[in-house]
Amino acid sequence: MHEMGIVTHLAKTLDELAAEQKIVKIGKVTLQVGEVSGIMTDYFVDCWDYFKVRHTVLKDSTLELETLPAVTFCDNCKKNYETVKYGRTCPYCGSGETWLITGNECIIKQIEAETEDDRNGEKNVRTDEMR
Ligand SMILES: [Zn+2]
Repeated sequence: MHEMGIVTHLAKTLDELAAEQKIVKIGKVTLQVGEVSGIMTDYFVDCWDYFKVRHTVLKDSTLELETLPAVTFCDNCKKNYETVKYGRTCPYCGSGETWLITGNECIIKQIEAETEDDRNGEKNVRTDEMR
């Protein structure tokens, strides 16, 4: 279960962040999910709802998922193109010397959180990219 693994990792990351930054409650978490990451967004949110109740700071959190479009770069003609439409073969020159630039990631874009110091404050936190 791919999604459950990521959810576990996400919860752990947020738990650590909460401890580090004295966060008492996490609200909305915005995740950017790559178009070809293989993550099923509906299922992912279900996993989260199942998981979050076991973490005090995450109990009232909601997940918002944004899709990041997949882009592939062609090494032969140095152009970018839409991965989903054309796959591994460059539509400009037909080369197979291509690689994915974006589209396989799962990134925490934004977290709304209450801290001990400022219970109404909003925090924008960026963490490392998750794989
Ligand atoms: Zn090309």
